[in-house]
Amino acid sequence: MPRTPSRRTALRGLVAGSAAVIGFDPFTRGWAVTDTGRPLKGVPRLDGTLHTDDASLTADAGDFGHIVHRRPAAVLRPGSVRDVVAMVRFCNRHGLRVAPRGQGHGTNGQAQVEGGLIIETEPLASIGPVQVDSSRVTVGAGAKWSDVAKATLAHGLTPPVFTDYLELSVGGTLSVGGLGGQTHRHGAQVDNVLELEVVTGAGELLRCSPTRHPDLFHAVLAGLGQCAVIVAATLRLVRAPETVRHYLLPYADLGTFLDDQRLLATEGRFAYVEGQVGADTAGAFDQFTIEAVAYGPPVGDTPDDTALLRGLRYEASGVQITDLGYYDFLDRLAASVAALKEAGLWAYAHPWLNLVLPGRSTADVAGALLGALTPADLGPGVVLLYPLVREHLRTPLLRMPDDPVPYLFAVLRAAPPEDTATVRRLLSANRSAYETVAAAGGTQYPVGSIPFEHADWRRHFGPVWKRFAEARRTYDPKGILVPGQGIF
Ligand SMILES: Cc1cc2nc3c(=O)[nH]c(=O)nc-3n(C[C@H](O)[C@H](O)[C@H](O)COP(=O)(O)OP(=O)(O)OC[C@H]3O[C@@H](n4cnc5c(N)ncnc54)[C@H](O)[C@@H]3O)c2cc1C
Repeated sequence: MPRTPSRRTALRGLVAGSAAVIGFDPFTRGWAVTDTGRPLKGVPRLDGTLHTDDASLTADAGDFGHIVHRRPAAVLRPGSVRDVVAMVRFCNRHGLRVAPRGQGHGTNGQAQVEGGLIIETEPLASIGPVQVDSSRVTVGAGAKWSDVAKATLAHGLTPPVFTDYLELSVGGTLSVGGLGGQTHRHGAQVDNVLELEVVTGAGELLRCSPTRHPDLFHAVLAGLGQCAVIVAATLRLVRAPETVRHYLLPYADLGTFLDDQRLLATEGRFAYVEGQVGADTAGAFDQFTIEAVAYGPPVGDTPDDTALLRGLRYEASGVQITDLGYYDFLDRLAASVAALKEAGLWAYAHPWLNLVLPGRSTADVAGALLGALTPADLGPGVVLLYPLVREHLRTPLLRMPDDPVPYLFAVLRAAPPEDTATVRRLLSANRSAYETVAAAGGTQYPVGSIPFEHADWRRHFGPVWKRFAEARRTYDPKGILVPGQGIF
């Protein structure tokens, strides 16, 4: 049968200043780019598969936020790193936009691309071998932290820092930073990467590290996907404990809670320190809890409650102390996530607000923001407030306030997705909160949903903007990568 343009289903007008159209030929099951209906060039031969079916496009048109929806023209499930190279080169040649997608747990369309190509990294999930002697492991970008933990724990080793939720991809969290309760001792996940393998926006496969293409390395870690697609990462490992002791310490006032957190962060007597803020029965956000964890053997001695709790000013009546296996501690959210999914709340809109406050003004700024927060505006979500230690946060693009102990302040809101008026109002509240925090010398941790323009990004990156923009010009000269961040 002749292959005529009429047999080709044109999917979308495409982007990046070109009039190109991606077309899918159902006869050859091939994907082609046309400008005036004339084929420009066929799609490269792939080890994996390219999808243009409705289910694939619809799935990758959304994310955990359930707020922004942008439909791609095609989805690559790579069978190899070679596929990523081939398709990025193809898109680069034709000026088509591309976004890698790990687990799609951004909340504001960060991994979406209208009319372009989504590269699902999930198939690139190889792990290991774990190199015990040099305490490192190389993993595919699509590997989930839960699987990395299980594989390294089999050798008594662990990545030093985890996000609270383990089912995020390595590439996804290394693109944003990766903060957790261990950050006060070890920095962010990006501070514990030894080497990356990436495909630049120009389609070049490169290895980079602090000594090899350092400009690229520093533009990719916490670089929000703007210069290259991470295909693999070599991670630093440390010895893992077998068990941990988990403490929940209640506080009646913000000032004492913050002071004790600061003490714990700077002294480092616990391996992990976070904190949560809850509402009382009248709806005031004035219930504070420090969550702290001490590691047991073989990393530390059996935790000594008296020594660990000495000098802390918590409310003794509500203390909870639990011994847990190390992996059970890392995976502690699994049961609540399953319950949220069961109740349909995982599919709620998540207009998340993630800020980093300078320690010196955290009591005032967090106090004001908590004073204005209502249980209705949080919905079935949580508020996190915990200290970081600046000297361990060395990745240039992970922006931090100029303060030795900044605090992460996260209002992890949830609202019914059909209630678009409420979602819009919460997005606008996020913007106001960001303005307050920026005026006090703070910034955002860019995983949430704060309306942000190009000028805001310039302000966000501040002194490193110039180098970031240069790296973008060098490694993604046609500007095809990750438009959903709205940076360039
Ligand atoms: C329930 C939940 C809990 C969370 N807890 C924490 C936490 O404790 N600490 C913390 O720091 N963050 C946390 N986050 C935020 C999370 O780290 C980020 O949203 C992260 O980007 C999600 O990873 P992902 O695999 O879903 O990435 P995606 O949402 O798929 O992608 C995020 C961004 O990175 C880009 N990207 C993805 N893969 C690559 C790659 N291989 N190369 C280049 N760019 C890429 C995407 O294009 C997109 O712009 C949490 C999020 C959720 C939903």
